[in-house]
Amino acid sequence: MISLSGPRRSLWGGARRRKRMSQQPQRPVPKHVLSRRGAISFSSSSSLFGAPDPRQLSERRGAISYDSSDQTALYIRMLGACVIFKQLFSRDVRVRSRVGFEPERRGSHPYLPIDFRILHSQPEPAGPASARKIRRLLSFQRYLHSSRSCRGSAPQNPLHILDHDYTGQAKCMLERVGSWNFDIFLFDRLTNGNSLINLTFHLFNQYGLIELFQLDMVKLHRFLVMVQEDYHQQNPYHNAVHAADVTQAMYCYLREPKLSKSLTSCDILLGLLAAATHDLDHPGVNQPFLIKTNHYLAALYRNTSVLENHHWRSAVGLLRESGLFSHLPTEDGLNMERQLGSLILATDISRQNEYLLKFREHLDKEDLCLGNAGHRHFVLQMALKCADICNPCRPWELSKQWSEKVTQEFFHQGDVEKKHKLEVSPLCDSQTNSVGKIQIGFMTYVVEPLFAEWARFSDTRLTQTMLGYLGLNKAGWSGLLQEQAGAGEGTGTAAPAEDTNSKVLPQGSEES
Ligand SMILES: [Zn+2]
Repeated sequence: MISLSGPRRSLWGGARRRKRMSQQPQRPVPKHVLSRRGAISFSSSSSLFGAPDPRQLSERRGAISYDSSDQTALYIRMLGACVIFKQLFSRDVRVRSRVGFEPERRGSHPYLPIDFRILHSQPEPAGPASARKIRRLLSFQRYLHSSRSCRGSAPQNPLHILDHDYTGQAKCMLERVGSWNFDIFLFDRLTNGNSLINLTFHLFNQYGLIELFQLDMVKLHRFLVMVQEDYHQQNPYHNAVHAADVTQAMYCYLREPKLSKSLTSCDILLGLLAAATHDLDHPGVNQPFLIKTNHYLAALYRNTSVLENHHWRSAVGLLRESGLFSHLPTEDGLNMERQLGSLILATDISRQNEYLLKFREHLDKEDLCLGNAGHRHFVLQMALKCADICNPCRPWELSKQWSEKVTQEFFHQGDVEKKHKLEVSPLCDSQTNSVGKIQIGFMTYVVEPLFAEWARFSDTRLTQTMLGYLGLNKAGWSGLLQEQAGAGEGTGTAAPAEDTNSKVLPQGSEES
């Protein structure tokens, strides 16, 4: 049961009033930024621009406010977007990938000349620069067509004929979007690389969020396209497919009995939004890398939840740029942004113990009351954390692909570190690590403790299924490591980490 709140009324009446955005800027914002639809007027700037230091971000870890440094982050976000827009119209995507946030890279923060935007870049495909963007638009039109067809209305665009089969199959998959075995890789192929847009739009539609919050369909579409575009498709792991996967997992958790009967529409909207945007503009390297290379984001966020802060500020930038919530009362919009931040910041894996201890304490005391908005928010944080690291709880065929992708990203970082004579980060050295070793450590020290507590909170068929896969996948990797060790002893060389025996692992039992 979803409780409803009219979007015209205040959704969060008791919210603290925050500093307004209309204060006089210390650093003028370029006119071309301000003149754009959804542009933000910024109140201040950070030390990166020579202004007085904002208060230490580390002192307000987890707390959210719109002070000067927040505004700077948004400013950076908008400048990046500006470059992107210009290039979109000039049809020069090569410039986009090399410019990135270049305007912010000057100043007193020397750092390694690595362009994170091209860190995992592939050779550019032939053809017009805007071809992929056009494909995305067409694909969305096809999606709208398929929705109309379902409702029996006449199609308005004959383009759907071109890939009717794929659209039909993708639509079929969405009918089972609550299945834990949902194959997001297949869905991404069937939607022509638009899994995040299509999945999120479908879930918004299914929950009736568009009507409930009177969302403008064009703005929602534009927002989702921008979100998907802001993920780096070159990243082996932290890309839009991962975001779509986390959103699908989040949906599975939102449907769990304890949550579905207590969450409000606002909770659901925030949960889905946070899942879709939680790794926005991820550079494909981790926080220690940003710190040791003196990246401007590390300086901006005082080495604290650097990536998560950036994901959140990027999401806020896109919300404002698209004007998705511009019809809501200002205070509600700001509250939405703050809650979104609180959810995204919870995905910082270095703060895992903090959240786990709090969760354990609540479960020991049995005092979680989902009628309480604060408690519901905490449960959403835990659900998002689970969704973010649920790869080892998926069926082997899916889990294995994710394991290989994340390892590829780690090793790529390690290679860059070696190339620039930096200390190689833990798990990033391909000489001393393997997919299996990394996975077993990750499952043992990170995933199992979290899902053990989640099982105490929500002991359902889905949870048992996840724990079942977790155990089987761990056994699968252990078996492979032993096999490789045996083969290595026999031949005197290391065995390749391929050809896994999936027969010993679950083969797609249903959970929906
Ligand atoms: Zn993530």
